[in-house]
Amino acid sequence: MVLYTPGKTSGYPSEKIDSGIRFYFLGGAEEVGNVGCIIEDNTGTRLLIDYGMAPTRPPKYPSESPRVSDAIITHSHIDHIGMVPWLAGAYGTTLHGSSLTAKVSEIMWRDTYKVSSIENYPLSWDKRDLDLALDSWETHKIGEWFEIGEWKCKFHLAGHMPGAIMIEITTPTTTILWTGDIDTRDSPNVKGASPVKCDILCLEGTYGGRKHPPRSEEEKRFVDRVKEVVDRGGVALVPAFASGRGQDILRILNRDVPHLNVHFDGMGTRLTKDWLQFPEFNNNFKDLLKTWKWARRVYGKSDRKKALKADVIVTTSGMLDGGPALWYLNRLNSNRSNAILLTGYQAEGSGGRKLLDEGKLSIYGKMTEINLEINQYALSNHADGPSLVKFAKECAPKEIIIFHAPEDGVTCLNKELKEEFEVYLPENNKSLFLNR
Ligand SMILES: [Zn+2]
Repeated sequence: MVLYTPGKTSGYPSEKIDSGIRFYFLGGAEEVGNVGCIIEDNTGTRLLIDYGMAPTRPPKYPSESPRVSDAIITHSHIDHIGMVPWLAGAYGTTLHGSSLTAKVSEIMWRDTYKVSSIENYPLSWDKRDLDLALDSWETHKIGEWFEIGEWKCKFHLAGHMPGAIMIEITTPTTTILWTGDIDTRDSPNVKGASPVKCDILCLEGTYGGRKHPPRSEEEKRFVDRVKEVVDRGGVALVPAFASGRGQDILRILNRDVPHLNVHFDGMGTRLTKDWLQFPEFNNNFKDLLKTWKWARRVYGKSDRKKALKADVIVTTSGMLDGGPALWYLNRLNSNRSNAILLTGYQAEGSGGRKLLDEGKLSIYGKMTEINLEINQYALSNHADGPSLVKFAKECAPKEIIIFHAPEDGVTCLNKELKEEFEVYLPENNKSLFLNR
C-alpha cells in the first residue's frame, strides 16, 4: 500500500538555510520510537538519521522523508529501521551503518514484511524495495571517519545492543553527537557507551526521570525466581525480545544456573547466528559461543513439544503480541506450577500489558484467562535518567536536543539539564535551528 508519494507529499521545508544547522524530525521527537530526523546546513549537506516505525497495532509511521542521498542507521530495532526500504526504493539512498546492523536488517525487514501481510496493515515498501535496501548498505568500522557531503562522520559504540552506534558529525562550523538508543552500563552482551565531547548533543530520553534498580540485583532477583519455579516442578516462560534481551537472558542463565535445561525459540535464534559472525561487537564472544552451544535451540514443531518439558523457555515476542510465546502460554496455562517472567517494558495495548492489568490476553483471537503467576523484571538496555544526565554533562555540549522520550521523561531531563545547558525540545514536522 502506498503511504507516501516520493517528492510530492513530504512537508519538509523547501527554503534554503542561510546559517546554522536545521534539525527536522519526521518522527520520534516527542515520542518513543518511530524515529527519523533530517539534519542539514548551508553547505547543502543533508542526511537522515534512522527511519523507523513504531510496532504498535496498527503501526505508526514517521512523516515522508524528503530526498536524501545518505542515511545513517543507528541500530536494527524496528522503530529505527522499519521504513528504510522505502528510502532505497524511492531515492536510492545510501545506508550507513555498522556491519552487524546491515547483516541483521535483512531478518528484521523480512519479518516486518511477513507480519504486515498476515496482519494486513499498510506498508509503504515491497519486496523489491527490501532487496534494493540490502544492496544499499555502506558499512563503517567504529572510530573510522567517513565523509557525507561537506561533513565528516564517525561511529561510536552505543551500548544498547550489539552493532548499535552513536554518530559523531563534524560540520564546517560545529560538532554533533547523536546518541541513538544508548546504555552507559555494561550488559551481558555489550559494553556501555562512553561520552564524546561535542557542541550539540542529540540525547535519547526513553527513561528520563526514571531510575533502574542496580542491574546485578535485578539479575539476581530474576534468577532466584527461575530457581523457585523449577524447584516446585514448573516451567519458567520468559518472553523476551529477539534482538538483545533474549540473548542477555541466556547469558545470565548460563552464568548462574548452567545446570538448568533452557530452550530458546523464535526469531532470536536466527538473529544470534548473525551475531556469531561479528565477534567484535560482543563484549565476551567466547562466552556467547559457550552459551549458544549450551542453550537448546528450537527449530520445529517436535522441538517445541520437547521444550514444554524444559526448566526455562526463552522466546518471542517480548510483549506477548505473537510468536511462539503464545503457543507455549496456551499449553503451560493448565499447570499452576508454571510461571511467566516478563523481562521488559510492556507497551500500552500489548498482550503483556493486558495480562498485567487484567490477568487475561488474546491467544489466537480468543480472550484467555491466565492462571499463572506473573513477575516483571527491569532488564532494560537503555540508560536511566541519572545516567543520561551524567552522560550529557560529560559530553560537555553547548546545546542539547532531547528526543525519543515520553512527555514526563522530557520534562525531568529538561529540568535537570537546563540550568547548565541550552536545552531544546523538538516537535515532529517543525524546523529547529541550532548553532546560528
Ligand atoms: Zn533500540
